[in-house]
Amino acid sequence: MSFDDRRRNVRSLLFFLVALLGTVVLSFAGSFAGAADRDVALGPRYSPTAQDQALPPNPEARPGPRVALTFDDGPSPQLTPYILDVLAAKRVRATFFLQGDNTEARPELVERIHREGHVVANHAWDHAWFPDLTAAEAEEEITRTNEVLQDITGVRPTLFRYPFGQPSPDGDAVLARLGMSNGVHWKWTSNKPGDFQCPGADALVDYVVTEATDQAMILLHDAGDTIGCPPAQLDYLPRAIDELRARGFVFGVVAPSPVPSPLNGGSRAAVVP
Ligand SMILES: [Zn+2]
Repeated sequence: MSFDDRRRNVRSLLFFLVALLGTVVLSFAGSFAGAADRDVALGPRYSPTAQDQALPPNPEARPGPRVALTFDDGPSPQLTPYILDVLAAKRVRATFFLQGDNTEARPELVERIHREGHVVANHAWDHAWFPDLTAAEAEEEITRTNEVLQDITGVRPTLFRYPFGQPSPDGDAVLARLGMSNGVHWKWTSNKPGDFQCPGADALVDYVVTEATDQAMILLHDAGDTIGCPPAQLDYLPRAIDELRARGFVFGVVAPSPVPSPLNGGSRAAVVP
């Protein structure tokens, strides 16, 4: 074997090793990307329209009556990715009242909610009916959910919304001890059907626009019964946001407030930029 032959052999061996290493690295990277991509939606996704792409970086930087879109019961792989897509495309921040069990099942969706600038709030562990809970159970529902949310976001939730809007004295005592806002309620004065009743996109645009007024907290869902509605119903969200903007509204998020809001069932909370 000549010196040149040997050099060629060494070179092919090196080439082979580099190719092998490359394959190993790529397949590792692939499995990591797979893990990060676990927010693969089981439902529809939303693509920004030309109108969305023409939005200024902060469409809320103007005066106007301020409303909060609030989404309960999530996260769910069927609805949450679409809702986050719409909010990102429309540059709207919202408030998510999340369930502990759904958070534990889909932490990557809660991570996305937090990363995209929305408010992460507590909606109890498994949508319990608080009037039937013991004091210990009420405590567990609230604190365990706070812990799983804080593990993901690094932020301790300050807002709690009772499942079904049903408070209990034991639950209130836990919230007071933790310095959390009393059960955050919502505005619903029109008696129009909500999203969980599957009235369809047209009816939901009407519901959102009718309820909208300065400081209104609008009740919506990204999980629960709403998962069973026809997917076309989701079209209400981009349409309602466009319609409210056309009427001069700006969007805000829910924050604790010492002053109760009669408009939102006495919630000690306000809609803030
Ligand atoms: Zn709920």
